[in-house]
Amino acid sequence: MNGSVAKNRGRSLVGAARLSGLLLTAAVSVASAVPTAGHSPTPAPYGRSWSTSEVAAGSTYDWDSTVPTWLKAPLQDVLETQWASITSNNSRHIAFRRTAGGQATVSFTNVTGVVACNNVPGWLGCASGAGSPGWRIWIRRNPNLPWCQLSLVNGCWEVERIAIHEAGHVGGFLDHMDTSQSDTVMTPAPVTRPNYGWNVRRLQRCDEARMQLLYDVASPS
Ligand SMILES: [Zn+2]
Repeated sequence: MNGSVAKNRGRSLVGAARLSGLLLTAAVSVASAVPTAGHSPTPAPYGRSWSTSEVAAGSTYDWDSTVPTWLKAPLQDVLETQWASITSNNSRHIAFRRTAGGQATVSFTNVTGVVACNNVPGWLGCASGAGSPGWRIWIRRNPNLPWCQLSLVNGCWEVERIAIHEAGHVGGFLDHMDTSQSDTVMTPAPVTRPNYGWNVRRLQRCDEARMQLLYDVASPS
């Protein structure tokens, strides 16, 4: 991002959600400060929204052995507490719950060669398997792009900001929205500290509205 490649951008959410798809590959690339590539104008069907019965059951996930200790608390916070906050996500969305042996997997890597992440140089997070119990989220450590959790300096990346975006993909957002950080976490490019929005951890107003279109309103009050 910042030089991001937003694969499969441009499909309307409702249209995409009605397609039966196979795999979401949404790379959140955080690379150089110079945009390196444009958005693909020809998205393919690659994901789906969660069914009512799946939403009722919830989605379980687990860390794989690659996930370092420092990453677990912020990821669990964003996938569970922040994602499910009724004040920012008042929809009948899928809930994520970490369970030993959970169906979905969170992974961590130091390398770029993750096929599902399109091998985009500089990526920091990506997701696959949108709307399916076996989804997967990867977080990457790039030595040139510090995580704020490890080094709170200007220019660092907040891992929860990256993760809420990936959770958005897994939860049903199959595309990006190229608008304000105050509207959505699904921007193709997030921002670094101290720019506005760098530490956003919850869905924003357009995200909530889209979730409600997909899954209905949870509470009308
Ligand atoms: Zn994305």
